[in-house]
Amino acid sequence: MARPDELFAYFGDIGGLPGIGPRNRVLVERVAGARLKDLLFHLPAGVIDRRYRPHAAVAEPGRIATLALTILKHVAPANRRTPYRVLARDDSGFMTLVFFHARADFLLRQMPVGSVRLVSGRVELFQGDRQITHPDYILAAEDEDSLPRIEPVYPLTQGLSLKTLEKAVRAALDRVPALAEWQDGPLLAREGWPSFHDALRALHAPVDAATLNPDSPVRRRLAMDELLASQLALALVRHAARRKRGRSLKGGGAVRGAIRRALPYALTADQDAAVRDILCDMAAPEAMLRLLQGDVGSGKTVVALLAMAAAAEAGAQSALIAPTEILALQHLDGIRPLAVAGGLEVAVLTGRHKGRARTEKLRALADGDIHILIGTHALLEDDVVFRDLGFAVIDEQHRFGVAQRARLAAKADRGLDILGMTATPIPRTLRLAAYGDMDVSRIREKPPGRKPVTTRVVPLSRLDEVVPALSRAVAQGARAYWVCPYVEDSAGDDVAAAEDRFQMLDGLFAGQVGLIHGRMKAADKDAVMTRFQAGEIAILVATTVIEVGVNVPEATIMVIEQAERFGLAQLHQLRGRVGRGAAASTCLLLRADEIGETARRRLNIMRETEDGFVIAEEDLKLRGGGDLLGTRQSGLPGFRLVDMEAHGDLLDIAQDDARRIVATDPTLEGRRGQALRLMLYLFERDEGVRWMLSG
Ligand code: ADP
Ligand code: MG
Repeated sequence: MARPDELFAYFGDIGGLPGIGPRNRVLVERVAGARLKDLLFHLPAGVIDRRYRPHAAVAEPGRIATLALTILKHVAPANRRTPYRVLARDDSGFMTLVFFHARADFLLRQMPVGSVRLVSGRVELFQGDRQITHPDYILAAEDEDSLPRIEPVYPLTQGLSLKTLEKAVRAALDRVPALAEWQDGPLLAREGWPSFHDALRALHAPVDAATLNPDSPVRRRLAMDELLASQLALALVRHAARRKRGRSLKGGGAVRGAIRRALPYALTADQDAAVRDILCDMAAPEAMLRLLQGDVGSGKTVVALLAMAAAAEAGAQSALIAPTEILALQHLDGIRPLAVAGGLEVAVLTGRHKGRARTEKLRALADGDIHILIGTHALLEDDVVFRDLGFAVIDEQHRFGVAQRARLAAKADRGLDILGMTATPIPRTLRLAAYGDMDVSRIREKPPGRKPVTTRVVPLSRLDEVVPALSRAVAQGARAYWVCPYVEDSAGDDVAAAEDRFQMLDGLFAGQVGLIHGRMKAADKDAVMTRFQAGEIAILVATTVIEVGVNVPEATIMVIEQAERFGLAQLHQLRGRVGRGAAASTCLLLRADEIGETARRRLNIMRETEDGFVIAEEDLKLRGGGDLLGTRQSGLPGFRLVDMEAHGDLLDIAQDDARRIVATDPTLEGRRGQALRLMLYLFERDEGVRWMLSG
């Protein structure tokens, strides 16, 4: 779908806005994004209310106040440490204006002695006198109109001032045009919602604090736009999938039987049930779309393997796609021995395979000699052609989007059955928003013999007690992960932190420590992982690259540094790396000495439970689900305006509406359809849709 002309301005670069030079551009991009629409979707966190107009003598300390003051005197500082002061008064009493590192000539011009100035800022009490340090506004009385009465406050980053951001947002608002209405007319009327463009304006020029409440008409309107865009994209994809000839994959069971006989364990009841669900979907003539949800270590891989075996029995090839190379290789390790027992040919394809090796794999794939192809995004490339792809497994499904799903589907001429897998237990509302109404199988029980993980929260100041304990454990043959935090805002700092920790531990445990982080080459990462797996090194210092799926059953210790910086879901994922073998495991959450209330509650939850579903629900309560899917936004992946707790009720409406739209105008040709195209494009849900509209 080509970008509609009306949206040109919305996708313009923020660099063109007043006050956004190269330096500020980087900062604004960091907090909001690089395009005007990103900036406009940057929600104010609150407002500054400048309507409080007290007399100077009674101005309440701590409040933002606006006062009309007569300038009495400028007092230059005696030395560099004391501030520049401007004495002022009104009829009731005095007010001092305080400036650090001031430029006297500028201040004298701004506030000549004897002039009257409108001053707005936070009132403080200093040694019994009222003062305002660095007022936000100093205006001549006749410029009163340019003083905002209510001012939005935005989340910022270091070095970026509120004024700069505000000015940029205002300019952005003036540059983007109003758009044709895409919401359902009766719904708008019933809810009393403004148009999209008016809602944006109201959001950034709030008339009161309530405008910014998630349940205000403005916020609900914008949330609905975002929800409808996601639900419509999903509905269009589903519609297209249904239109495609479905495929019934039904095997005789011989391959599965051989694999089951080769398994060193029996499947749990949940695993068995999941396999049954999946086989049933596969056998049905419709295209399958099912999510397999199970905590880390719950044994999803073998379920996926049995499904792929069934596909092979039915003569179809399978693909298993994982978000990282480490994960793909690990799946290969787990699957290959069993697949071989079933007589299946397994191959792996990642970005690392190039030249002859790649060409040969692709030829074998096209000839049908490979039954199961495991890999990363590299599987999605156009020249990866199957003889007959019928089944796909998408591991850590939430890391992939609709578009990637569609690209896989495009490789399957006779229809594709898709099994998503996720270790992130996603509550229903979130799941609906992210995936639409996908069928779900759950593995709740862990394989037998797993011991619970003992979790302890320890302040970092007691690091000197942790090290000897670790030393004793390592002496007895234990293997440990040591995770260093991902520091946002400062790209690369996570690597620096991990490197420092590696140096320290390597000094104490010479030769027994390895380091792994995201900026290492894949081959180097694998080499370190392999040594840890083989027990050649006892301690693996890592950034969060080990977050998903790594399986080293012998590892029994997980140390997480600055645990207060991690979200619950991430902590849970990380902890899931241990407790996989027969030996008892420990998770040490090292925290800063001072931590906030939410962080404290999070760490307590970790100490209290290992149940991923409980943790997910708690996470949703604490963070509005933001961290749940590993995204930095305070909502859902790819959602900026939705607050699930406040807007959950809109999800059902959006879903119903999306279904109705697809039923009446599946190609979005009608008048509303045209407007809906704008919406899809604006909310960047067009990518997956493009396939569907074209196909
Ligand atoms: P995940 O759900 O995290 O992908 P895996 O599939 O990697 O979990 O399984 C974790 C480990 O549990 C593997 O070593 C696997 O062999 C083992 N496992 C899986 N199912 C069972 C079972 N029913 N009984 C015992 N061990 C099992
Ligand atoms: Mg896994």
